[in-house]
Amino acid sequence: MTGWSISPFEADGLRVSPLRPPVLPEPPRHGEDPADCQSCRDRDEGIWFNDRWRLTRIAGVGVPLVLMLHPLEHHDMADLPDELAAELGVLSTHIVRHVQALPHVSRAHVYRIGDGGAHLHIWFFARPEGQAQLYGSWLPVWDDLLPEYPADVAEADAAVVADALVASAGGRRPAAAASLPLPIAD
Ligand SMILES: [Zn+2]
Repeated sequence: MTGWSISPFEADGLRVSPLRPPVLPEPPRHGEDPADCQSCRDRDEGIWFNDRWRLTRIAGVGVPLVLMLHPLEHHDMADLPDELAAELGVLSTHIVRHVQALPHVSRAHVYRIGDGGAHLHIWFFARPEGQAQLYGSWLPVWDDLLPEYPADVAEADAAVVADALVASAGGRRPAAAASLPLPIAD
């Protein structure tokens, strides 16, 4: 992968980490117990809400915009009720559409990993227009390496996306849009 033109690393001098033995049972993820779940505690924070979901902007990132979609109730993806699973598909599609409509953004990458937190959270990473080095699967790595994207621009773009989501999928905006600090590593 370091030979790809999109790699943020030059191959010379990079070494592959030795593979460690598996750890069983695996340690619990953050929020396995809903009583200790940050996402449940933060259910009033976000830039867009409906009765089942909320959308947050992740601050302090290097790409133009990183958004995260969370169910209000404590579900992981595997136990998401079908009604919410169907809505997740619609909301994800609308969020991608609205992020990609931003004038300087070409793509919204969508990720669900879930190794860090037990409460479902879907990532949306905006890939800036024309920046071919940021194509593809290295984008979240580049995000950690790039200088911080201007927060005022990201906040305004997030507001555009949230307003468009209200128009296309319903829901509401909070009185004062809030953003979250970086969550635990996923
Ligand atoms: Zn939770």
